Order: sequence, then C-alpha cells, then structure tokens
Amino acid sequence: MMLKDIFMTLSENKALNGAAKKYGLKMGAQHVVAGTNIEETMQSIKKLNAQGISCTVDNLGEFVFEKEEALEAKAQIIAVIEAIEEHQVDAHISLKPSQLGLDIDYDFALQNLKDIAAVAKKYDTFINIDMESNKHLQPSFDILDELSKEFDNVGTVIQAYFFRAAEDIQKYKNFRLRIVKGAYKEPADVAYQTKEEIDKNYIELIEWHLLNGKFTSIATHDHNVINHIKQFIKDNNISYDKFEFQMLYGFRTDMQLELAKEGYNFCTYVPFGKDWYGYFMRRLAERPANMNLVVKQVFNK
Ligand code: FAD
Repeated sequence: MMLKDIFMTLSENKALNGAAKKYGLKMGAQHVVAGTNIEETMQSIKKLNAQGISCTVDNLGEFVFEKEEALEAKAQIIAVIEAIEEHQVDAHISLKPSQLGLDIDYDFALQNLKDIAAVAKKYDTFINIDMESNKHLQPSFDILDELSKEFDNVGTVIQAYFFRAAEDIQKYKNFRLRIVKGAYKEPADVAYQTKEEIDKNYIELIEWHLLNGKFTSIATHDHNVINHIKQFIKDNNISYDKFEFQMLYGFRTDMQLELAKEGYNFCTYVPFGKDWYGYFMRRLAERPANMNLVVKQVFNK
C-alpha cells in the first residue's frame, strides 16, 4: 500500500475521526486548521484580510449519519454567516452536503441548504457547495439546481479528475465555479488516475472557464499550473475581476501573500472546528511531504 492510500484509509476511519474530536488540534493540524471555534476563526480571518486576502470558511465535519448532527452543523454554519456580518470580515462560506444530511435523506439535506442559503442571501454572502466523492456528485449538482431556482448566491466545484468534468463545466458555466484537481480516491471507470492526465484536464478546464464562464476560482498549490495560468491570463487579456486564486489555510503561505501582493484576487480556504481529523489526513494523503508538519510537531515540543 502506498503512503497516499494509507492516509486515505485513515481519513475514512470513523472511530479515529470520533476519537480525534475529543482532543484539540493535534499532530500539526493547528498549522492547517484555523481554530476550533468561531471566535478564533474570525481572528484568523482578520489577519488574512489585513494582508489583502479574502476567505472562504469551512465548518469541518464528516460522517454525519444522524439528523441531529446535521442540524447542529446547519446551526453552526448559520452562526458563521452571522459572525461574518457582525465582524464585517471579507469572507464567504464553503460547505459539504454530506455534513448537512445528504447521506441520510436528500430532501432533508436540500432543506438544510435552503435554510442556510436564505440566511446568507440576507447578508449578501456567497455559498460554495464543496464537492465530495463520486457518490455525492450528482445529488450535489441536483441540490445546486434546486437552490439556483431561488438563490443567486450559490456556486460549486468542478473536480478535474472526473471524466464528466468538461460536460459539467459547460452546464454550470454561469455559476461562480471553483476548479480543483480532486481530492478523493476515485475508480478508473469514472476518473483519470495519472497526474499527467489530471493536470492536463485541469488546465483545459480552467482555460475554458476563464474564457467562457462567469467567475473562476483557481484552487491549487501547484506553481506550474499557477504560472501557466498567469501567462494565459496575460495572453488573453483576461480581466483580474473575473478570477481569483485559492489555496488552503497554512499551505504555501509565502506564495499566497505574493500572489495577493502582485494584485491578483486571492482567497484562502479556512477550515475550522473540532472535526479536523479527516481533513488533515486527506492533506497528508495528497502530499506526504506535508508530513513535515507532523514531524516538526513531534520533535519541537
Ligand atoms: P498537487 O497536484 O497536490 O501538487 C502539485 C505540485 O505542487 C507538487 O508536486 C509540488 O511541487 C507543489 N506543491 C503542492 N503543495 C505544496 C506545498 N504545500 N508546498 C510546496 N509545494 C507544493 N478537492 C475536492 O475534491 N473538492 C473540493 O471541494 C475541494 N476544494 C478545495 C479548495 C481549495 C481552496 C483547494 C486549494 C483545494 C481544494 N480541493 C478540493 C483539493 C484539490 O482537489 C486537491 O486535492 C489539492 O488541492 C491538491 O492538489 P494541488 O492542485 O494543490 O496540487
């Protein structure tokens, strides 16, 4: 088993996820998770805003199979929207349909998302529907279709490893879209498997959406992609207000600042909460070099 697969398996372990919730941020997770509560998170956001960086806030949470947990997550997300308004920070929301009950009942999840979108609309806050694994993909697009009948403050993510991504991006081009490579382990009948194939599709999708879409969030830590897209933007005279770069909190922070200083719109994805374990393991799976975070933590007590 490769290291990537080991971390992926660990990320999906419900017992370990549950155990980690009882502790504060451990194993270096504090470098990539902004806080365990809303107050700490607002302070982290203010620091980023002061550097010219906007934020998208994610209330961490996975393995939600009880309605009560989904309702708690909804209340927490609404509290974040209210805190964004109260603190007047430059931030919007990222959320996962599974955390709001998609694995329990579609209509229940849809209603939870509608309730959140309604509060967000009141404050003119944008809601991004994060994309999860393949089994959640179509239901998440269905939720977006339903929401967009009532709300214009919603958008989603296109994962470049899926064969269907090119079709989806055309269908949803009039939405604000975040384009990513894709973080979950997907089978070969639905998704590209090699880095070369994924990177190629990733760049094609970004270029297409920059030319044809509404607003593009280019979410990657890959300097090769970023440099390529910078040149593409220049060559095609694409206006800076049509796109932004996004990276995860705590990753390549120097580059985040540099891009903001160069005048690009930059948005940091800010995860927070007690349920940090699965998120952290997926980051280790993506890039075992991130293990440095863990090693430093163990030796720098
Ligand atoms: P990789 O392919 O992981 O890395 C490419 C190269 O970049 C590496 O070889 C290395 O040279 C360099 N590099 C990468 N990271 C670092 C680093 N930390 N330090 C130094 N060099 C580095 N996935 C989903 O499936 N759904 C989502 O909704 C989703 N939302 C996301 C939101 C944001 C803001 C971001 C940034 C990612 C999101 N992802 C999401 C995850 C995404 O799909 C990828 O799994 C993840 O970003 C890793 O791919 P990458 O493009 O960053 O580059």
